[in-house]
Amino acid sequence: MKLILLGPPGAGKGTQAQILVERFNIPQLSTGDILRAAIAAKSPMGLQAKEIMDRGDLVSDEIVCGIVSERLDDKDTQGGFILDGFPRTMAQAEALDELLAEKEISLDAVIEIQVQAEALIERVQTRAKESGEARADDNADVLRNRLEVYTELTEPLVAHYAQAGLVKSVDGMLSIEEVTAAIVGHLEG
Ligand code: AMP
Repeated sequence: MKLILLGPPGAGKGTQAQILVERFNIPQLSTGDILRAAIAAKSPMGLQAKEIMDRGDLVSDEIVCGIVSERLDDKDTQGGFILDGFPRTMAQAEALDELLAEKEISLDAVIEIQVQAEALIERVQTRAKESGEARADDNADVLRNRLEVYTELTEPLVAHYAQAGLVKSVDGMLSIEEVTAAIVGHLEG
């Protein structure tokens, strides 16, 4: 199963990705996680990405496309993968189309998790409080910026993948279990 999860920050992409990892026994490929690991390791890429991520802006297409290209060559992604948080711009989507064509990989589906912006702000604030340590990018202003970035740069990708007939939309305001059931229904239906 080769999937892309699309949806604004806080829509539950990470949560659903983890469930799908178990269910289909395929790895999650999260550019956000890889970038956070690079920051923790204080690698040159991490140092370059930190400020940008703290503001809620996007890291360069070149950096994230490089990360994904490398991961798609790894052994564990050969049987399938879940792209979580990539692509986020049209340039990334086009680069991914080329990468997949070169590597002779075809996507099974692009899952769009739909949610309302106001509900997201509330949800992300709750998540930050519950976890006790808010991620540096989880304060309300940064979230608003991330939502604007999503609407402006990432949402247009839904139309891009709809042209290829790949988009399956699910209502992200439902419970975690219901969202999973909707996704699995699309994939197995
Ligand atoms: P995430 O964990 O997917 O919400 O990503 C956290 C942050 O990492 C984002 O706000 C961006 O700053 C950066 N990031 C993750 N994936 C990408 C991507 N595909 N393109 C650009 N920046 C990204």
